Amino acid sequence: SAPQKEVRMLVLGLDNAGKTTILKKLADEDLKNITPTQGFNIKSVQSSGFKLNMWDIGGQRQIRKYWHHYFDDTDVLIYVIDSADQKRFEETGDELAELLEEAKLQGVPVLIFANKQDLATAAKASDIATGLNLHTIRDRAWQIQPCSALNGEGVKDGLDWVLKHIG
Ligand code: GDP
Repeated sequence: SAPQKEVRMLVLGLDNAGKTTILKKLADEDLKNITPTQGFNIKSVQSSGFKLNMWDIGGQRQIRKYWHHYFDDTDVLIYVIDSADQKRFEETGDELAELLEEAKLQGVPVLIFANKQDLATAAKASDIATGLNLHTIRDRAWQIQPCSALNGEGVKDGLDWVLKHIG
């Protein structure tokens, strides 16, 4: 078969959103293969044609000047939200809005995972989309995908969208 193109995915979101759990599902690999980058709390995983870089966006603002190393050549941005953590919707919305302003991520498709849908208190993806004004995004392809990283529901649908919107 033809050699696979490496797909560079950036997986970002607040701490505790569920990035690590989603990464594990996306990469279909053991967490042992996820290597933290020394001093930066950035994790990387490479798996069958995918290269994923991920970190907690809120707590890492002090290293913002180094982000460009990871932003370079990004094919797709995956932004993870804890749908049950309503206290932090504003914070996560602000962080996402800032990311969408990053010059290096201009035009990069963004998939937003409305994670933790298995919890009874989870907000619906459509309500999160409205609350975060996602419908004002006009400079790139975007999608909000409800999911539960815990039981896996919706994660594959998100990956399918990603694969349709790269390159
Ligand atoms: P990260 O800090 O964004 O990497 O978040 P983690 O993947 O470490 O997840 C944070 C916590 O949320 C852990 O206790 C996970 O087990 C839990 N978690 C992640 N995804 C889900 C989900 O879909 N549903 C539920 N109920 N818990 C989840």
